[in-house]
Amino acid sequence: MSRFYVTTPIYYVNDVPHIGHAYTTIAADTLARYYRLRGRDVFFLTGTDEHGANVAQAAAAHGKSPQEYADEINAAFRAAWQSLNISNDDLLRTTSARHEAGVRAFVQELYDRGEIYKGRYEGMYCVSCEKFMTEDELVEGKCPNHQREPVWYAEENYFFRLSKYCDILTRAIEDPGDLNHFEVEPPARRNEVLGKLRVGLSDISISRANLPWGIPLPFDPSQTTYVWVDALLSYITGIGSEKRTEQFKRYWPADVQLMAKDILWFHAIIWPAMLIGAGLPVPRRVYAHGYFTINGQKMSKTLGNVIRPQQLIDRFGVDGARYLVLSAFPFGTDGDISIDNFVEAYNADLANDLGNLLNRTASMINRYFQGSVPAPEGKPNELDADLQATAAATFPVMEQAIDALAYSDALAAAWQLVGRANKYVEENAPWALARSDRARLATVLYNLAESLRLIAYAIYPVMPQTAAAIAAQLGFEFQTKGAWEQMVAWGGYPAGATVTGKPQPLFPRLQ
Ligand SMILES: [Zn+2]
Repeated sequence: MSRFYVTTPIYYVNDVPHIGHAYTTIAADTLARYYRLRGRDVFFLTGTDEHGANVAQAAAAHGKSPQEYADEINAAFRAAWQSLNISNDDLLRTTSARHEAGVRAFVQELYDRGEIYKGRYEGMYCVSCEKFMTEDELVEGKCPNHQREPVWYAEENYFFRLSKYCDILTRAIEDPGDLNHFEVEPPARRNEVLGKLRVGLSDISISRANLPWGIPLPFDPSQTTYVWVDALLSYITGIGSEKRTEQFKRYWPADVQLMAKDILWFHAIIWPAMLIGAGLPVPRRVYAHGYFTINGQKMSKTLGNVIRPQQLIDRFGVDGARYLVLSAFPFGTDGDISIDNFVEAYNADLANDLGNLLNRTASMINRYFQGSVPAPEGKPNELDADLQATAAATFPVMEQAIDALAYSDALAAAWQLVGRANKYVEENAPWALARSDRARLATVLYNLAESLRLIAYAIYPVMPQTAAAIAAQLGFEFQTKGAWEQMVAWGGYPAGATVTGKPQPLFPRLQ
């Protein structure tokens, strides 16, 4: 069984989770659920990034110790992922003993291999980014991400020889035959990274002299590990890199590492260089998704337009929230969202299209066949054949879309089938068949139940509870183990299955 390892970034605990964290995590969860359903041995890691100046500052502002503060925000992340039905296998904290031991072992390894040297750092640093900035990265003297002036640092630090990886990384990204090959996606982000590599790389400071809230360097405990080096290492310490466990050997390198585009630099340049420097394989794919604006504006605390995951769940339900964020715009691009648009999409796609399809199918099976779906009779006519063809076309499109992280396309493929099935109801007018042709009525209702069974499989990775609810209402078992091709082949709905009682609306309409 082939394995699949997917990671989200580990989230910085200077604030409780918002819709941006949820977006990346739902995307990762969808991959994890999909590949599990396909029979792969999946490991899905998320985590919290708990060291660094920002956390120390935020904690002080709340009158707490950094650890107390980190504990609190970590709990908020755990709660959010539980509410959003995220199926992560682990959640790594960078203040855990296993992580700290893993970081020390890795940094020592780099030091022993001559990849780290002592030098003097003088330059600018954006505390919000936790990033050393170069002059040309600043816009009017400020960090473009934070509209904040960087601070000037001048101190003795340890440096990682990043500059020597410029050609190595360029080859690794460009040449699929290269030993260290990895994909940077989508293409616009890949070009951006290659563009930066053409300019060249400088060595980077990987320690701080006056920041106690971090992991001391094993070879010089007066310095702590740069928070990004600390954070990136979570992807391997989370699966046991320090002791080279069976789990580590099994899952590393990661298949997909997900993040928002503002932190691509760390993941596509610094991270693979660190790994190569330590003699470890690089991740297979690094994927940076876009940003979203809310009603055309950047989400910010100052504007008061920050959306929290729980607000979405309260309004749209768990699966509604998951569906809406992934279907709003293509994953790799920037997009705009608004609660008004979400309400509209919820009512149209979920309450009307999918909700009604299930509701009327179950109601008619109840009304005309006392809740027990008969086997189809006779040869499929043209309408049946067209419905079956749409169903058959759904899965290749969905499979390809999910492999490409094109979530909105995968959902659109499922909704093609939803739309075709709704049209099939109108074309066949089962209410008229009930008076004239019971054999045909049986076939039509069977075909609708079967379409819904297939829809349940097509939406499961994004909407697991809805898939289960469809199965429960139509009286079939939603299989999560077995051959995928068989699960999604037409004809799997068990004739004679019993529809359970009065159908419950999946997605009550919103005003
Ligand atoms: Zn910044």
